[in-house]
Amino acid sequence: MSVVGVLAFQGDFSEHIAVLHSMHVPAVEVRSLSDLSKVGALIIPGGESTVIARFLDETRVGKEIVRRVLATPTRTLPPLFVYGTCAGAILLAKKVTGKNAPRSLKLIDLTIDRNAYGTQLDSFETNIRVKGIREKIPVSFIRAPKITRVGKGVEILAEHQGVPVLVRQGKVLVGTFHSEVRDDARIHQLFLKIIKAS
Ligand code: GLN
Repeated sequence: MSVVGVLAFQGDFSEHIAVLHSMHVPAVEVRSLSDLSKVGALIIPGGESTVIARFLDETRVGKEIVRRVLATPTRTLPPLFVYGTCAGAILLAKKVTGKNAPRSLKLIDLTIDRNAYGTQLDSFETNIRVKGIREKIPVSFIRAPKITRVGKGVEILAEHQGVPVLVRQGKVLVGTFHSEVRDDARIHQLFLKIIKAS
């Protein structure tokens, strides 16, 4: 199994590493181009999208993520699968709206509205039904963004009150919630399943 990287500039990357380790998946922190070159999949965690965007730019890791996701894979350029949660979802969307929208990598055809559910006080927990998974999954929405448009090529895997909250396009999986803080590995399992099936 290829190594899964977790972008570790800021945010809850340790929680994702812990979930991956609980599944016995080799996982490493990614902070540089050299770290990125060693992984076949990358999780962009929740945190502060404006801060993470600055690091992605300064280290050129952002540009390399885009190159690897879009390129036709070769022996020297392996494919890269990406799972973005919350701030990570913002950073992967084609278009970001809301105050202080960061520059995103534009790897999935979505429009996403930053902090659309309100402030920290409006954060909430719920259980969601995910396509292909029998039992509902406990998740937390923490100053979450809201997906306001999905492009034609985007598959909706879960919704909450009629709003898409887990979506996929090709090598990119995006969720606006956190499952890693609820001790649940099923979304991570889904991400690994997508990689294996591709
Ligand atoms: N509101 C944060 C942002 O825009 C995202 C919140 C989160 O990742 N939990 O960066």
